[in-house]
Amino acid sequence: MRRIFIKDLLQEELVITGGDAHHLGRVMRAKAGDRILVADDEGKVGEYELTGFTESSVSMKLVQQVEERTESPVEIVLAQCLPKGDKLDLIVQKATELGVNVIVPLASDNCVVRYDGKKAKAKQEKWQKIADEAGKQCGRSRLPEVQQVQPFRQWLREAADGKRDDTAVCMCYENELQQGMKDFLQGQRAAKRFVVIIGPEGGFSLAEAALAKELGIASVSLGTRILRAETAAISAAAVIQYENGDLGGR
Ligand code: SAH
Repeated sequence: MRRIFIKDLLQEELVITGGDAHHLGRVMRAKAGDRILVADDEGKVGEYELTGFTESSVSMKLVQQVEERTESPVEIVLAQCLPKGDKLDLIVQKATELGVNVIVPLASDNCVVRYDGKKAKAKQEKWQKIADEAGKQCGRSRLPEVQQVQPFRQWLREAADGKRDDTAVCMCYENELQQGMKDFLQGQRAAKRFVVIIGPEGGFSLAEAALAKELGIASVSLGTRILRAETAAISAAAVIQYENGDLGGR
């Protein structure tokens, strides 16, 4: 069933305007009596029957609330240093399918691309759109948030300073020889939220790795092979979900 997301909470009767109304009425040519799923700001989902259309709005009434368990028991923040070209498009799409909640694009020492204010905003909007579409397609009840591009060091300091008790933070580091992701995750059974940091194609600079260490951020290995940035991001999200009971079952 078609799915839309609203910024509001579910109500008996809803009137939708804007892009979703246009899409339903004009593009999909939906009719009164058709049913859709509506996911609200808290991730609650309702089945609605369409009742009326105007030039710019669609009204609908609640048929029933739907119990959905498409969200993971843990929250994941993927902090991804900007890769080249369109690679972040792929990462955003796959991370959304894998249940990631927040994606933070970071500008780090070895990033080749640089986005200035205007370009960065346009990129963020594009990535958010990719996340929204992937979230609808894969049946999520909450859409991920793609944040603005932020400078790596500043973001890392803030992440370490503001670390919540329920949160485990790790940096996937290609030169890490001691601690594997598996051991790290098994030591974090109580965590309800994971922040995972992935480098760009060029990896992390020594200064960045040293700063992460100084801030007490765990450095973890994803195994003996060097993965491309996009493979590392997608694999890290998958193994965090798997270790926390989300992926691989019903
Ligand atoms: N140019 C670097 C590789 C960077 S790979 C080199 O040749 O050493 C891009 C990013 O993916 C890394 O910064 C890291 O975050 C992640 N990554 C790739 N392989 C990894 C591994 N085996 N363990 C941990 N992280 C890895």
